[in-house]
Amino acid sequence: MNEVPQLIILGSIAVDDIETPFGKKDGLIGGSAVYAAYSARLFAPVGLVSIVGDDFSKDKWKLLNRKNIDISGIQVGGKTFHWQGYYEHDMNAAQTIVTDLNCLESFEPELPEGYRKAKFVFLGNTHPAQQMKFIEQLEAPEIIAVDTMNLWIKNTRDLLVQVIRRANIIVINEAEVRELFNTASIVKAAQELLALGPGYVIIKKGEHGALMFTEKSHFSAPGYPLETVKDPTGCGDCFGGGLMGYIAKAGEVTDAVLRRAIVYGSVCASYNAEDFGLGRILNIKKKDIEARYKEFREIRSF
Ligand code: AMP
Repeated sequence: MNEVPQLIILGSIAVDDIETPFGKKDGLIGGSAVYAAYSARLFAPVGLVSIVGDDFSKDKWKLLNRKNIDISGIQVGGKTFHWQGYYEHDMNAAQTIVTDLNCLESFEPELPEGYRKAKFVFLGNTHPAQQMKFIEQLEAPEIIAVDTMNLWIKNTRDLLVQVIRRANIIVINEAEVRELFNTASIVKAAQELLALGPGYVIIKKGEHGALMFTEKSHFSAPGYPLETVKDPTGCGDCFGGGLMGYIAKAGEVTDAVLRRAIVYGSVCASYNAEDFGLGRILNIKKKDIEARYKEFREIRSF
């Protein structure tokens, strides 16, 4: 029996077809909620709020039903969301070929009773209307972190801005933040985001690390020099999941906790890139996380 979740995660559950310069794999379980949960569960028990279709196979259910992942908030109906994408040698940006939202299109998140009191929440990448509906069901959230993607910036910008206004932490990648504010300057974009309300703006720079901006400080985390990169799908979600998993475990948010959380998020993302789909993060243990966290410290010591 899983424990009561300390962190609640909203996002997509997908069947992904992925091509990178290192191979092509079809029919993999993916989605923002899945990657985020697989990372966050290494720090704290998590609860997933999402939807899958009737076609979701037993094997895939087995992958969701893991220690530290509560699946009682997953709805079932219709056909599972399907995403197809590819990467070129610069693997920082996924090129989307197909987005079949299927059951995700009309998904209305419904929080199980016990989840409504959640203090720590990660709104993974999905439609901002779903993120808002999720927020509205929370009774007294302490920390809401939100992630997004170019599709929502392009198609539903106003709604996304409303969600950002309700968040304490925004996690967004470099290209997306430039697109959101139509600027080349990451610093300017970060200031615009801070002005909307979140106290912490975290900008992911793919393999080059991450930046954090607050009203008072600026932090830069290094990327991990990975030798084997096979598939970066889900790295952004693993980053967000690891970050919020660590925060939920710490039970508070301070500048110092956030800095450590960013490094833990980066550790999760770096492992995830080493194999296709969940291949690598599936078998990662807490001791692996701590070993690489230590290496991150060493990279930055001078
Ligand atoms: P990331 O590489 O972290 O940006 O996330 C990759 C995951 O996002 C894949 O597993 C996809 O299934 C999922 N994804 C792609 N497009 C969308 C979308 N429009 N809404 C929700 N999830 C998506």
